[in-house]
Amino acid sequence: MATNEPPAGGPEAPLLPGAWIGVVGGGQLGRMLTMEARRMGYRVCVLDPDPASPTGQLADDRIVAAYTDADAARELAERTDVVTYEFENVDADAVAAAESAGTVRPSSRVLRIAQHRLRERVALSDHGFPVAAFVPLREEAELEQGLRLTRAPAVMKTVTSGYDGKGQAVVKNLAEAKAAFRLLRPLSEALLLEEFIPFTTEVSAIAARDAVGRVVCFPPSENIHVNGILDVSIVPARVPPEVSEAAVQLASEIAEKLDVVGLIAVEMFLTGGGQLLVNEVAPRPHNSGHYTLDACATSQYEQLVRALCNLPLGSVDLLSPVAMVNLLGDVWIETGGRPHFDRALSAPGVRLHLYGKAEARAGRKMGHLTAVAPDVETALARALEARDLAAGRR
Ligand code: AMP
Repeated sequence: MATNEPPAGGPEAPLLPGAWIGVVGGGQLGRMLTMEARRMGYRVCVLDPDPASPTGQLADDRIVAAYTDADAARELAERTDVVTYEFENVDADAVAAAESAGTVRPSSRVLRIAQHRLRERVALSDHGFPVAAFVPLREEAELEQGLRLTRAPAVMKTVTSGYDGKGQAVVKNLAEAKAAFRLLRPLSEALLLEEFIPFTTEVSAIAARDAVGRVVCFPPSENIHVNGILDVSIVPARVPPEVSEAAVQLASEIAEKLDVVGLIAVEMFLTGGGQLLVNEVAPRPHNSGHYTLDACATSQYEQLVRALCNLPLGSVDLLSPVAMVNLLGDVWIETGGRPHFDRALSAPGVRLHLYGKAEARAGRKMGHLTAVAPDVETALARALEARDLAAGRR
């Protein structure tokens, strides 16, 4: 981890509290960013088509427009001092339009890489970062050779608009590959076929980098996905210390090599042989970093505010072992729309975060619970118990 000395009078003047932060995207990540920014005295303007979006409910100001609206993005840059985005599937051309009118962090160049799985893989492997073997697919005729390279089973993914495990399929042979190709190809300008990694653990690490190149990285999180959606994050990750150190190193180097100013979350697979392979990068706060709000000296959201505003980056010290569980709409469905949060909050060290989403749908991220405890197994048990209690499962 790089040192975090106060700025020695770099080219970037601090944007002090009172300044405006523009956020493209109005989801829960923008909401928690807004909470932290406003706590610190910043003002937030959000661009989202929904005026009552999770972020819009709490922002100081709103531009109600589509993510593809370049004029609205430019207006956001004009009305604020610095602009960021809170998810990858915002339109990169609109973000570039904002960049022509003001400062955007991370840059639209970083966004273009992160929102396109093929560009992402190429950028990572060109910089020498370890990734699973992959081949681009455009024609069905490429499948046979592709499968020879990745070997079966392989994972087929759309290169754009995929998130939370959407737009992908595991294929075990050519017939399955053909069927998946026909299903996925119309959804995306190209597909990616990659090696299936029988990982032992998934980990992620979130690095922050400021405008003068200092980098700090939060303690890596161990992540468990269910149906492609993050279900649980556990920190410290239950991996050997050298694996955690390697994850921090990888995320920090990726932040440097991609010239990120802001945050970059790096999702990795740990193989049985102890090797880390990068699966995905996201230049924004990340679901697996929610834990920082309750268990770190600085949250990922405050860290982003600091990086955006040329403030010294904050300490990434972990203050307590912690586990985070997502609350999907299913919990609402199971309880007739009234989860038992009174019961969930009975365990010590448990905290509730809800995102202000009106409609609970299966698989929709509605909130999360965290539990801090003296050790990670207790934290995990309490977080899981709290969710079960909320859902009326125990
Ligand atoms: P992604 O949308 O790429 O983040 O994938 C969602 C989840 O699918 C990951 O967190 C993994 O659990 C699983 N997955 C994705 N790619 C692979 C792969 N190449 N090998 C094994 N599992 C994968």
